[in-house]
Amino acid sequence: MLAMNYRGPYRVRAEHKPDPVIEHPGDAIVRVTRSCICGSDLHLYHGLVPDTRVGHTFGHEFIGVVEEVGSGVQHLKVGQKVLVPFNLFCGSCFFCDRELYGNCHNTNPQATAVGGIYGYSHTAGGYDGGQAELVRVPMADVGPMVIPDDIHDDDAVLLTDAVPTGYQAAEMGDIKEGDTVVVFGAGPVGIFAAKSAWLMGAGRVIVVDHVEYRLEFVKRYAQCEVVNFKEVQDMALHIKKMTDWLGADVCIDAVGCEASGSAMQTITGRWTMMQAGAATVLHWCINSVRKGGNVSIVGVYGPTFNAVPIGNALNKGLTLRMNQASVKRHLPRLIEHIRAGRLNPKEIITHRVPLEEVSDAYHIFSGKLDNCIKTILIPPN
Ligand code: NAD
Ligand code: ZN
Repeated sequence: MLAMNYRGPYRVRAEHKPDPVIEHPGDAIVRVTRSCICGSDLHLYHGLVPDTRVGHTFGHEFIGVVEEVGSGVQHLKVGQKVLVPFNLFCGSCFFCDRELYGNCHNTNPQATAVGGIYGYSHTAGGYDGGQAELVRVPMADVGPMVIPDDIHDDDAVLLTDAVPTGYQAAEMGDIKEGDTVVVFGAGPVGIFAAKSAWLMGAGRVIVVDHVEYRLEFVKRYAQCEVVNFKEVQDMALHIKKMTDWLGADVCIDAVGCEASGSAMQTITGRWTMMQAGAATVLHWCINSVRKGGNVSIVGVYGPTFNAVPIGNALNKGLTLRMNQASVKRHLPRLIEHIRAGRLNPKEIITHRVPLEEVSDAYHIFSGKLDNCIKTILIPPN
């Protein structure tokens, strides 16, 4: 089959590799009809995630048609069209019982923090992902959801990650009626965090980025105020000025680690840490939120950071929450919002690219070129 293959930092290629096979009775093989590139893939692409091996296929956002099921699969049927949450989860461990699917204990042999994630390095279990023609889906009765007939495929593929992650970002902010919410990052996750903030009763939503076309998009799409951080000298001061000197009630980090200015991984896998100015967005969140406010972090951090103003956070009495999204938990509610017209995820899709051109697609998305917000990869079926 054709699949995206990682060759090293900033180098990915579409290559032929063996078709995946059923390895356990609970597995299914899914023929991918659409996959996306996510901001999380960029951390891999930039070489910021440990144990990203050459030959690994990325892609944790995909939908497709069930091609084959293992002998132990009871509910999923060949021919069904499914969306597959980015987390692999068993559905029955201590963490899954608490709907912490992103922290499943049984899907990642390392089991230190995160559970299994498709196409997200050996740190997240080493499962090949869906930027391919075919993908092996373990525990196929647990994760995948049959796509309802009235849900468009383009919406369905965005329900595998970007929409529920933005939604969970807002949820973890514990937004109260009338709250002022500042979202850092106007990528897909930040865009849906802004949309979700309104759904949860925010009175004011401000989105911060420096990519002008994204700020223009989110301003129109999510009816929010925007700030270009390149035009601001002191972010916390700026947000305070905008909020009667109180600060925001809730700050959301939808950025995570950036290839420039946070940390660098050499080819040999050693880390070069930059102390000062590391994790810019965490500083901005902690310093821009009001005393007693909430900081919600969904931006992903590959390396360790130790220049976070944790003393400020303590003195201000902040609540910090963070996690990988538990995608499946949010799906019923999000599908209702789509049906009611309150969410239109597919409007953020700007690019449709044949899988063969995956290298160009990463280059464009990573460089924020060509007004790119969300790219769909189409396999050659
Ligand atoms: P993206 O790369 O498309 O968007 C990130 C945006 O942040 C870009 O527009 C960039 O210009 C902007 N940015 C960079 N530095 C900034 C700063 N200092 N302040 C404000 N904005 C800044 O990525 P995305 O797909 O929207 O994902 C966003 C983050 O969410 C990534 O870190 C990704 O790994 C993470 N993520 C987390 C989960 C989860 O479950 N926790 C799931 C999906 C994605
Ligand atoms: Zn993703």
